[in-house]
Amino acid sequence: MGQSLQKKRLALITVVYWFLLLYLLAALSWWFIELWQQNEEMYAFKKDLVHPSDPSFALVMKKITDERNRNMAQYIGEGTTFLLLTLIGASFVYRATRRQIRMNAQQQNFMMAVTHELKTPIAVAKLNLETLRKHALDPEKQQKIISTTLQETNRLNDLCDNILLSSQLESGGFSMLKEKCNLSSLAGESVQAFRLRFPQRIIETAVEPEVFIEADMLMMKLAINNLVENALKYAPPDKPIRVMLEKGAGFVELTVQDQGPGIADEEKLKVFDRFYRIGHEKTRLTKGTGLGLYLTRKIVEDHRGKIFIRDNHPTGSNFVIRFEPAAA
Ligand code: ADP
Repeated sequence: MGQSLQKKRLALITVVYWFLLLYLLAALSWWFIELWQQNEEMYAFKKDLVHPSDPSFALVMKKITDERNRNMAQYIGEGTTFLLLTLIGASFVYRATRRQIRMNAQQQNFMMAVTHELKTPIAVAKLNLETLRKHALDPEKQQKIISTTLQETNRLNDLCDNILLSSQLESGGFSMLKEKCNLSSLAGESVQAFRLRFPQRIIETAVEPEVFIEADMLMMKLAINNLVENALKYAPPDKPIRVMLEKGAGFVELTVQDQGPGIADEEKLKVFDRFYRIGHEKTRLTKGTGLGLYLTRKIVEDHRGKIFIRDNHPTGSNFVIRFEPAAA
């Protein structure tokens, strides 16, 4: 329902916009032609008033011609300024409206995704709890059900953290608490937690020990978790992912590598936009909100770092975070 209504509204807005713009341009052209004609008429009228036998004919004619040229130059100047201002204003309105429409569509996608993301873990947890209450299961089965319920609750918790943090960061209501932190330990702990959550997945590491940066520990952990979570989510389950940490001359680089589908060049910047997800909500197989990379970039930039994507060969992507190391 929403989409076709939105398309109709968009079509109406586009028609009104072009109509107004063309009307304005036509009015401007009309105004210019009218003034030009008036000027020419005045010139002809004044010319008729002087007679060639008049001793000051040449002088008067020069005055009349100068006046006509001056008026013309004034109309051209004013017309051009007005035309330029109109075009600048129109392109500004056009771009702002398009941005707004894109943002609305993304927000709508986000609401659909969030509702889905929230409902699934709740439904799973509810079902599991009901099963536990109704049936006297053997301890092994009980443990299995409890651990899937916990996994779902963790997912729910991560999602709520992402949503809350995103709105706090947007409204400027969040301040980071930076201290010297051991990025090697942080990356190691994050990988360890994922290995427990996804025992069937292979997570390789090449983490240089004792790499320190100035950072808000919780935020940094969230950024790393988002990247690892994406690598696990978007790469095939039988392919390993790899977390690397390297300290070079004047930089620290953390890379999360996967062998998934990779990210096309034209999407490499867009994926960091809020609510942005590649593809269409209806055809996508993976669940998500489009907040993870947005938050990760925000966190990295608040730590004066950079985040970018390099292709992995032969397939997949490398998400790279680059920081300055902490002073010794
Ligand atoms: P979410 O995963 O919730 O959709 P993100 O902001 O984390 O949101 O990611 C934005 C989009 O970038 C994803 O929807 C996905 O299309 C793409 N993406 C992120 N990480 C990867 C990856 N490792 N491999 C391929 N595509 C990815």
